[in-house]
Amino acid sequence: MIALRTSIPVLLLLSTAILLAPDGAAQAAPPGQTPRPPFGLPLEGPPGAGRWVVGQFYGNTQGAYRYREEWYRAGQGLHFGVDFSVRCGTPVLAIGDGEVSGIDRMERGAGPHNLLIYHPEGYISLYGHLLEAPAAYIGMPVKRGQVVAFSGDPDGTCASRPHLHLEIRSLDHGIAYNPVMLIDADWQTLALIGPRSSFETDLAEPRRWQTIADQPTVDFWAGPLNHYARPWPPDWE
Ligand SMILES: [Zn+2]
Repeated sequence: MIALRTSIPVLLLLSTAILLAPDGAAQAAPPGQTPRPPFGLPLEGPPGAGRWVVGQFYGNTQGAYRYREEWYRAGQGLHFGVDFSVRCGTPVLAIGDGEVSGIDRMERGAGPHNLLIYHPEGYISLYGHLLEAPAAYIGMPVKRGQVVAFSGDPDGTCASRPHLHLEIRSLDHGIAYNPVMLIDADWQTLALIGPRSSFETDLAEPRRWQTIADQPTVDFWAGPLNHYARPWPPDWE
């Protein structure tokens, strides 16, 4: 009992070591320690063949550029989440502690079903293209790593392009952040085994927005960011 009681202050110190700001930056990390992103991955276990891989990263992807006038118009022509290619019915995990703040909200909602979780650090996570309406209720407390839903397919077939679309938004839903910057994961390895296609290039500024971490924050409805006069790959009709 004595050992248990003396360890409590240590635990408290550890749990308060990282303070998080709503703008996504972790601050006040102890000297010599790198702040860790606040959230975890929304799928369990290691990635890989037969399990899950990243199908499309956040940002100025070639896929988003191609559909910038249709699907991604509200997101400035960018893919405003990360897609995890995964078999239908795979458990989806809460990326952090919080409480359920939305179920099947369809404005920019990634149907046919979705779930939104409020996180006290100042974010909302959205889990889209779910298989079915999550068995949850508004205000339901959730813990990081808890199964909150099951993955599906935007086309409702489970055969066309099953994947989980994950977004991290501001509390007013006006901003979408790059999940790569906020989720503690080995993103470089995920990029190596993930999508072969990369980011759309503006030949007038070819180095801009070309890596998984160097992507702009999306301001919903602020207008397109990527109407390029000289795009590569070229525009298509
Ligand atoms: Zn997506």
